[in-house]
Amino acid sequence: MPTTVAAYAARSATEPLAPITIDRRDVGPHDVRIDIKYAGICHSDIHTVRGEWGPVNYPLVPGHEIAGVVAEVGSAVTRFAVGDRVGVGCLVDSCGECDTCLRGEEQHCRRGAVQTYGAIGRDGQPTQGGYAESIVVTERFVCGIPDGLALDVAAPLLCAGITTYAPLRRWNAGPGKRVAVVGLGGLGHLAVKLAVAMGAEVTVLSQSLKKREEGLALGATGYHATSDPATFATLAGSFDLIVNTVSAAIDLDAYLSLLDVDGVLVTVGGPAEPMPVHAFSLTLQRRTIAGSLIGGLPQTQEMLDFCAEHGIGAEVEKINIQQINQAYERVLAADVRYRFVIDLAG
Ligand code: NAP
Ligand code: ZN
Repeated sequence: MPTTVAAYAARSATEPLAPITIDRRDVGPHDVRIDIKYAGICHSDIHTVRGEWGPVNYPLVPGHEIAGVVAEVGSAVTRFAVGDRVGVGCLVDSCGECDTCLRGEEQHCRRGAVQTYGAIGRDGQPTQGGYAESIVVTERFVCGIPDGLALDVAAPLLCAGITTYAPLRRWNAGPGKRVAVVGLGGLGHLAVKLAVAMGAEVTVLSQSLKKREEGLALGATGYHATSDPATFATLAGSFDLIVNTVSAAIDLDAYLSLLDVDGVLVTVGGPAEPMPVHAFSLTLQRRTIAGSLIGGLPQTQEMLDFCAEHGIGAEVEKINIQQINQAYERVLAADVRYRFVIDLAG
């Protein structure tokens, strides 16, 4: 018999989220049931429920930054036991057999990875996310949360953390690298912390100087307002890597001009609108434009371990589930410092 749990769901692109009950499947041999303690609010949740990324099967329970405690394990589970502190991110399944799965890049599964919500699971049922009391996930998609990382500040690492860690590693953020982070929100503030911990020299490019003191406190050594046209003249050619975390379309040509020869601009933000690029923004200084999508399970665990080692957690504002709709509005107004986390245990 499936277990009925309380959750919060969107019922259309325009209605506020509201209470619902959903069924979680029985714990199969390879499954883990997790009592969810905290779920982060990612801007992707908002893009998705508002239909900006395509059609949605409502009702939809968002939430893919899940931290909790194992409540039950299947008979074949080897990596987890009841009471373990664990996390689940954006994926809950994949084929496990293709070349990308075998090298631990399940986000690029050739047969299509199963997203934590808004997808059809391999059992044929719609997946529902973490704004809920509990979730059942196959153990391959569960990460251990190391001791020393509190569950509330760890939850956002499961999406925002890995999404920024992966490109920083891929493009070798480290000593001697000049890294700019565009947008100081949920992803952006973790990008700053992670790049600083990797040893890079980090600059924040934010719409205004409102969050300057906090950005510098996160370890950035430069902080500039992109609303000031002088910023683009002052910083021309001065970065090796730009990580764009902005949820809206930006003027890529303007940001590409900030890269030195051979510099890379990697976009992780997911605006609904296209972003045009002028060829000369790339050719003249042999620049590269790239994208990056969350990360695979091995790298997600590596990122969690890195965060524990370096004392990195998200800066969170804890809310209860009834405050979810106000929190969405504040995320849309870029008024979050720096991740809302829903306290589901309280
Ligand atoms: P967020 O907390 O809302 O942060 C986005 C930041 O972008 C804001 O804090 C703001 O920073 C800046 N911004 C917002 N609107 C802007 C505008 N119109 N012009 C310029 N800057 C603007 O969102 P998030 O949760 O970090 O997510 C950021 C984006 O990444 C979303 O599109 C999300 O869907 C996407 N995402 C992608 C992946 C992936 O795998 N690639 C994973 C997770 C999320 P300032 O106030 O500092 O300017
Ligand atoms: Zn996310």
